Amino acid sequence: MGDIILTGDRPTGRLHLGHYVGSLSQRVELQNSGKYDEIYIEIADSQATTDNFGNIQKIKDNVLEVALDYLSCGIDPKKTTIFLQSQVPELSDLTFYYMNLVTLARLERNPTVKQEIIYRGFNNTIPVGFLTYPISQAADITAFNANIVPVGEDQLPMIEQTREIVRSFNRLYGKTLVEPKAVLPQNKICQRLPGTDGQTKMSKSIGNCIYLADSPEEVQRKIMSMYTDPNHLHVSDPGETEGNPVFIYLEAFSKPKHFLEYFKNKETGELEYKNLDELKAHYQRGGLGDVKVKKFLNYVIQDTLQPIRELRHKYEKNIPEVYRILFEGSERARKVASETLAKVKKAIGLDYRSDIELINSQCEKYGSITFQETKN
Ligand code: ATP
Ligand code: MG
Repeated sequence: MGDIILTGDRPTGRLHLGHYVGSLSQRVELQNSGKYDEIYIEIADSQATTDNFGNIQKIKDNVLEVALDYLSCGIDPKKTTIFLQSQVPELSDLTFYYMNLVTLARLERNPTVKQEIIYRGFNNTIPVGFLTYPISQAADITAFNANIVPVGEDQLPMIEQTREIVRSFNRLYGKTLVEPKAVLPQNKICQRLPGTDGQTKMSKSIGNCIYLADSPEEVQRKIMSMYTDPNHLHVSDPGETEGNPVFIYLEAFSKPKHFLEYFKNKETGELEYKNLDELKAHYQRGGLGDVKVKKFLNYVIQDTLQPIRELRHKYEKNIPEVYRILFEGSERARKVASETLAKVKKAIGLDYRSDIELINSQCEKYGSITFQETKN
């Protein structure tokens, strides 16, 4: 079997720059490389209910937003199956069987889930569904026999959990499931992009995001009010670039062409800064103001988002087409997931219909007439 990719996002908000560098841009590259047999992208609406069960409308609205974000970033439904988790009920069945292979203590040790519980203020009211969502992610990945899962760093504990489930399952019931591998973005900074407020992760739930669908004005406003080095009070002060989100974003998004376009002196043709290292060095020794760096960052981000915005506007004019893509993708996904579920049930020993031996041995035990297979 060739390489199969599965990734996904929770429809709990529009996608942001963290998603873009952490996962989405990689997905588009992998898709266009033509090296993969199958690519699945899941909109994890069922998983989103685990911490939004009182606000289903939010999930429904964001299903469309996330789909639009995918398409506008270049996910091509002819090459990639985009599907809705809730429309593939086989995934819940798989989750149920995998639950037996994981202990409560193991779930409680998951560092990402621990952090999310704090953010959500669950304290002693953690919904069981929320605590167990890493198991449902194992179902999502294994249902499609995915061996490659491109994700941001926060997802590593989920992939590890999946690998453990696969190993336990295969040991107990015979080799059935494929063990996946997480693929992180090569640029370390992109593995966990910080928020505009300087917090360690840009996240929908924290609300420190620049969204792919933000208007140019909104993007500019957010960038100009970004957190920087709090000790860099005057332009002449030496500044810190380490841990400074403005410089981190430049590292994640700026390309040589941005320096060429933005810092070229129109008369002399000279470049004020040739690259990020030069810009950083100036900031570190003092004499470079935050406003100037932020204006450059705004230029870089607008340039990155412009083509995405244009494609989004095109799809926004044909929303039924977007739903059609989701429904067709979900149907395709369902076929594959039901094949895996059948394999899993057979491996466990729960496929009564095709287990003629079992039925006949029971017939013998009770002195019954034997089973005649009925054709329908
Ligand atoms: P939520 O707060 O609702 O959990 P989220 O912003 O964490 O939302 P998810 O839908 O949970 O987004 O994550 C989808 C994918 O995007 C995952 O692979 C995750 O690792 C990646 N990702 C999310 N935020 C970032 C980030 N700030 N930097 C890099 N990757 C990220
Ligand atoms: Mg998350």
